[in-house]
Amino acid sequence: MTTTLPAYDEVVARYEPVIGLETHVELGTNTKMFCGCPTDFGGEPNTRVCPVCLGLPGSLPVANSAAIEATIRIGLALNCSIAQWCRFARKNYFYPDMPKNFQISQYDEPLCSDGYLDVEVNGEVVRIGIERVHLEEDTGKTLHVGGATGRIHGATESLVDYNRAGIPLVEIVTKPIPGTGALAPEVARAYVTELRDVLRSLGVSDVRMEEGSLRCDVNTSLNLPGEEWGTRTETKNVNSLRSVERAVRSEMLRQASVLDAGGRITQETRHFHEDSGDTTPGRSKETATDYRYFPEPDLVPIAPDPAWVAELKAALPELPRLHRRRLQQAWCLSDADMQSVLNAGAVELIEQTVAAGATPAAARKWWLGELSRRANETGVELADIGATPKQVAELQDLVDAGKLNDKLARAVLEGVVAGEGSPAEIMSNRGLEVVSDTGALTAAVDEAIAANPDIADKIRSGKVAAAGALVGAVMKTTRGQADAKTVRDLILSRLGA
Ligand SMILES: [Zn+2]
Repeated sequence: MTTTLPAYDEVVARYEPVIGLETHVELGTNTKMFCGCPTDFGGEPNTRVCPVCLGLPGSLPVANSAAIEATIRIGLALNCSIAQWCRFARKNYFYPDMPKNFQISQYDEPLCSDGYLDVEVNGEVVRIGIERVHLEEDTGKTLHVGGATGRIHGATESLVDYNRAGIPLVEIVTKPIPGTGALAPEVARAYVTELRDVLRSLGVSDVRMEEGSLRCDVNTSLNLPGEEWGTRTETKNVNSLRSVERAVRSEMLRQASVLDAGGRITQETRHFHEDSGDTTPGRSKETATDYRYFPEPDLVPIAPDPAWVAELKAALPELPRLHRRRLQQAWCLSDADMQSVLNAGAVELIEQTVAAGATPAAARKWWLGELSRRANETGVELADIGATPKQVAELQDLVDAGKLNDKLARAVLEGVVAGEGSPAEIMSNRGLEVVSDTGALTAAVDEAIAANPDIADKIRSGKVAAAGALVGAVMKTTRGQADAKTVRDLILSRLGA
């Protein structure tokens, strides 16, 4: 399609977007939702299966209590009400990777409902309403082989792997989010980022978007100011934070061009294409009645004891946004400085370096300076650079003790990143320690004075500034391993200046 899209600024000047997000999170439980099969990623196809998750006749599900607990903790962290009594429901449809021909999910009785998550966009707090958090089971995976795109079109074979079938999946649905205007794509991204951080802090999932353990569907609609909300589309399985932002933006532009031409938006699912950044139509959207939901007769209702829920609530970890704010205060950082720490992915690293004994300023200097530079150069994440917070704290200790100057410390850090051992080991193995032996330094100073009689005379006659040249000579003979100030003091005292 070669329609020219309108400019983004014009679109948001004329239309108001309403967005909504549905996020699926695979829980990191040891076993599946309704059977005892293991859940770890990457096993040989169809080796982590049993009669229950294969839907064989006569098999009966039993709910995984660890998954229920994790879902309640997610609901509590998102300020939701926790149902005192609720049931699973059957969602009926056929799909080859879903062997029972129905999915056990929750329908009108979600475990958690009516909460919110505060996110920050450009320093402003935006409160995102949470409609529901419910628990269901994942499907298997279908693999289409022989086609160019991995889609069924043009494929010669389709293979099914049921290892993922029955893995506990939590679905988190926001309320519609109006009023974000031009910031809609950024709000969507900020929400998914914050949600991911919350889930990580709870330890309920590894939240890896690239491996599919966190997946996002993005709803978007446009309306004219003062009019009713428009028809929404649902862009499926957007699997990176950047793509969440791009998918909203691209769908806003597309819808505006349809509306501008006097057309109507069709309620449908759409696929997001990472390469081109645009969306193409999927299927027209089914409604809830199409799935003939009914209460799951093979499972007992869930009735969490309110005292237990209160215990879970009291034991929640500090939430990421509050945690970040507390660190920012403790580290005395401006908003902009904190933002660069966040952008570098260095919050935890600095926190752990401080815990290992470094000052916040020193920890930040190493992680945002030398180590960030190396991470950028080599294209690895800062956390995978090869230096640990403990090693960085130890390095700073050696600097503070006067055993390393800045230049030597950077050379030691190079050894740390290369895996040569602890900073102290590298310092001694590579012979990088600052020369503090005054006898050796004095000899080097006398040598420099003897080799530069003109400069020495100038200093003797009071031109102290000339000492710099002699300091340089001494640093050269000591291969940078002397403390420059000590050398300068020595030169001046030797020349009586
Ligand atoms: Zn199983």
